[in-house]
Amino acid sequence: AKSSGRNNFQFYEKEMNARTGQRLALEHDLWGALENDEFHLLYQPQIELASGRIIGVEALIRWGHPRRGLISPLDFIPMAEHNGLIIPIGNWVLQTACRQMCELLASGLPPLRVAVNLSARQLGEKDFISVIRRTLDATGIDPNCLELELTESMVMHNVEDIIGVLKALNAMKIQLSLDDFGTGFSSLAYLKRFPIDRLKIDQSFIFNCDSDPDDAVISQTIIALAHNLKIKVIAEGVERPEHLAFLKQNGCDEAQGYFIGQPLAFDELRSMLLAGQEA
Ligand code: C2E
Ligand code: CA
Ligand code: CA
Ligand code: CA
Repeated sequence: AKSSGRNNFQFYEKEMNARTGQRLALEHDLWGALENDEFHLLYQPQIELASGRIIGVEALIRWGHPRRGLISPLDFIPMAEHNGLIIPIGNWVLQTACRQMCELLASGLPPLRVAVNLSARQLGEKDFISVIRRTLDATGIDPNCLELELTESMVMHNVEDIIGVLKALNAMKIQLSLDDFGTGFSSLAYLKRFPIDRLKIDQSFIFNCDSDPDDAVISQTIIALAHNLKIKVIAEGVERPEHLAFLKQNGCDEAQGYFIGQPLAFDELRSMLLAGQEA
């Protein structure tokens, strides 16, 4: 038993070193990923529930690692937030998303809203507003077609500064949405002070909204809260027809999820939209 305990420990230690090594190697590679053009965006459709029309997309980053293949943002965004690379990567996401929406226009499609995920560090940068302004100018996107997704934890720190930035964005006609709503700790009182256009019900409440009475009540309450504050509400993680039926029945405005549409490469998105226009 003694020796097997020791073996387990050695095994554990080896495993840990291997993992730490892998993480360090990944972080090293992350520094070159932008320059080597290894990132791309996928776009997941968002529909208006009343009409079933696609009214927007969420941009989701992917890293195509030359040796390891596709890497999830969950595995490199936290790293990039930690080492500061999130600033250039975040700028690349903003520029690419806006540019590609303009390419859709050039293909003869109507304007489409694009939601871009932000990290706390981006919002905290002193020149964030000018980065946004330059992106709008450089790409020519209608500011109203750009939506920035924030999380509750991001808007908890330096509340006064953040409110100033959000008000400036709102004055520029950019849309703001609160992502993963219901999972954070934000005081509901902030909702009144933030110029938020949309609440995004977290997918953890949607998974069982048709079977678990608690999740149903939480979703219904978020919808009512948003509507009483004149804010739109979108549900994410819609995976089954029962989810869609529940959300329609309860007056949710918009929805996103695998049942509605998988995240698509830009060319796939464009083809789908062009095909939908003919129909
Ligand atoms: P998120 O903002 O909550 O994005 C939604 C995630 O749920 C996406 O995962 C999406 O692919 C996935 N999803 C969509 N529909 C369904 C569904 O029906 N069921 C389930 N179970 N999942 C669904 P993804 O693309 O892996 O992104 C993970 C997270 O990485 C995002 O969570 C977001 O926090 C972050 N992220 C992605 N792109 C960016 C980015 O450009 N910048 C920053 N800062 N974060 C990003
Ligand atoms: Ca999001
Ligand atoms: Ca607004
Ligand atoms: Ca989310």
